[in-house]
Amino acid sequence: MEIKVMQNVLKANDVFAENTTELLKTKGVRLFNLIGSPGAGKTSVLELMIPLLKDKGARIAVIEGDCATARDAQRIATLDVPVVQINTGNGCHLDASQVGKVLGEFSLDALDMVIIENVGNLVCPTGFDLGADEKIAIISVTEGDDKPLKYPRIFHEAKAVILTKIDLIPYTNFSLQRFTDALRSIRQDQELFLLSCTTGEGSDPLVERFWP
Ligand code: MG
Ligand code: ZN
Repeated sequence: MEIKVMQNVLKANDVFAENTTELLKTKGVRLFNLIGSPGAGKTSVLELMIPLLKDKGARIAVIEGDCATARDAQRIATLDVPVVQINTGNGCHLDASQVGKVLGEFSLDALDMVIIENVGNLVCPTGFDLGADEKIAIISVTEGDDKPLKYPRIFHEAKAVILTKIDLIPYTNFSLQRFTDALRSIRQDQELFLLSCTTGEGSDPLVERFWP
């Protein structure tokens, strides 16, 4: 019985997601869904990337998902891009109806891309389609090199993976080889981006990936 309820929830979600996909296609706006654990560095990636993308002419808006506070939206607002914070309370992911409502707050004709920072969670945000062009997985060195094996679904669905905090590799037992092997065992054609938001190392290929 519980399974049936869950299926209905996901089906309702998919209708909203399809509406979003259709709307953004007609507006020529790309939508990215960033998924990663709390503390993986999702907001830091945005803080690093948005000024670089803006320099290349990209017009960006951001949707922030968190259980509570507008802290991340406040950080993004200082970059002078439109941003809306969604607080989910006890909810551990964003759903497509929430995102659809927020999109109505943006002037879509004046945008090239909307980036969603999902609620920090490596599991169920993956299951809720938001109508995005793609899901991007963000994982940090300090989470350990075995996480793709333990939480495979996001690494299966995300073609692009951003490994953050690479400046910390010398201070941990993280093995880039083990991590890469784990990723490849889940998906062969994965694009892996190594990034340090502290030093800026690795930002160029990522900018190119978002804004070719
Ligand atoms: Mg954040
Ligand atoms: Zn959830």
